[in-house]
Amino acid sequence: MPSTAIVWFRRDLRLTDNAALRAAVGGAERVLPLFVWAPDEEGGFPPGAASRWWLDRSLVALAAALAARGAPLLIRRGASAATLLAVARECGADAVHWNALHEPAAVARDAEVAAALQTAGIEARAHPGALLHRPSALRTGSGTPYKVFTPFWNTLQRDAVPAPAAAPRRLVAVSRPPSGVALESLRLAPSMAPGVGWDAGLAAAWMPGEAGALTRLAGFVDGALVDYKTGRDLPGVDGVSRLSPHLHFGEVTPAQVWHATQRSQGGGAESYRRELGWREFAHHVLAHFPHTPAAPMYPKYAAFPWRDDPRGLRAWQRGRTGIPLVDAGMRELWTTGWMHNRVRMIAASFLVKNLRIDWRAGAAWFWDTLVDADLANNTLGWQWSAGCGADAAPYYRIFNPLLQSRRFDAAGIYLRRWLPELGRLPDAAVHAPHEASAAVLATAGVRLGRDYPRPIVDLARSRAEALAALKSLAG
Ligand code: FAD
Repeated sequence: MPSTAIVWFRRDLRLTDNAALRAAVGGAERVLPLFVWAPDEEGGFPPGAASRWWLDRSLVALAAALAARGAPLLIRRGASAATLLAVARECGADAVHWNALHEPAAVARDAEVAAALQTAGIEARAHPGALLHRPSALRTGSGTPYKVFTPFWNTLQRDAVPAPAAAPRRLVAVSRPPSGVALESLRLAPSMAPGVGWDAGLAAAWMPGEAGALTRLAGFVDGALVDYKTGRDLPGVDGVSRLSPHLHFGEVTPAQVWHATQRSQGGGAESYRRELGWREFAHHVLAHFPHTPAAPMYPKYAAFPWRDDPRGLRAWQRGRTGIPLVDAGMRELWTTGWMHNRVRMIAASFLVKNLRIDWRAGAAWFWDTLVDADLANNTLGWQWSAGCGADAAPYYRIFNPLLQSRRFDAAGIYLRRWLPELGRLPDAAVHAPHEASAAVLATAGVRLGRDYPRPIVDLARSRAEALAALKSLAG
């Protein structure tokens, strides 16, 4: 009987630079690509609605690409270990290959799966690729994990990033494949016809799947990368890669991105690779401090006096706070499943400092609405904003969202895109309509409190209260 290897796809939804797929093709005569839907195995963080939407589309793309090369994707649902054992038995597989993930729950689950397979006499092999480096491998000189980015980044850059490998040209499928379930039966996407429900904005903004990822990467490298150093801070221009969901779902590897940017010399590429370094750092921190998605990295902050403010939280979620840059960001998030990094920082700061709402409420909203929701990056981003995590912005440094708006979106391009009701306000007024004169508002057709809210919080007073709350913690 010809040898068969299963390739267990998870968040590595690509054929190029896929070490597990290559090892399976190289080591067995036949391959069986398998995806197992097991949201209960995500350590309490199953994919949110926007992530499920993405996953659905990405699996469609992966299934088509695999079928075109000769080996259709099998889909099952259930516990991973039991499902893999059952499928291996049904198709006579003697090996299972997968690409390692590094979230603590995935590491624990994969160890269990490997043990179960090995007990059954089936080879189990995990391969690298999701990150540039194994997050648990890097240590400071004294053997401890890094808590500060720059020394981590300096160490990380010492090792060369291996060149990405090509996709296998042809796959040989098993002759009698086990039966699976239809993708639709997983109900990942909204049940309406594609593009007419809440996902219409997502569908218009993105092309999930490997082809979409590679198109976006090529467009970025030939375009915005050269000016990334300045462009990355301007939410109104197309200055960033928007590769985050593609990276999260493994439709492209960080090694592919790293090498693609090597073609472009200069500050843009260098500063871009540093951001890939932050992604590595986030995974490093999560691997070593697995409690951080649910609790501050530093226990001192556990007693912070957060406010219980469901109305404030709802206004923030809906983009109705009366602070234009925050509202524009939250509406961009709701419509497209993504928000510009600078605006993420400002929207998060407004929630945790001006509204003084627990960062975990913000992280949960992002988790459900971001197409790039990623446990490591989201946790680091929120703990950075709340001042309680690794290499975080100190809590006492509080963004003024009006100044940030004037500085990074001076012409109000981003604001007008997401807040059409403010579209006719002049540049001088669009950043803070509540400070504009009645005449300016009337000319622009803006009735505060009706067309657009007044600020739900006084920025100066809430800033002072946040600082007092911090002081109470120290004392
Ligand atoms: P680019 O600027 O083009 O950067 C390239 C890649 O580098 C990104 O795709 C991403 O993988 C990585 N990267 C960039 N900035 C960061 C960062 N600060 N931390 C870690 N990795 C980074 N990113 C996510 O991928 N998922 C999240 O759930 C997430 N939640 C966040 C929450 C908050 C409160 C904040 C402040 C940031 C969060 N980020 C998150 C980080 C960052 O905002 C996004 O990675 C970035 O905006 C994605 O857009 P891009 O691909 O165009 O980024």
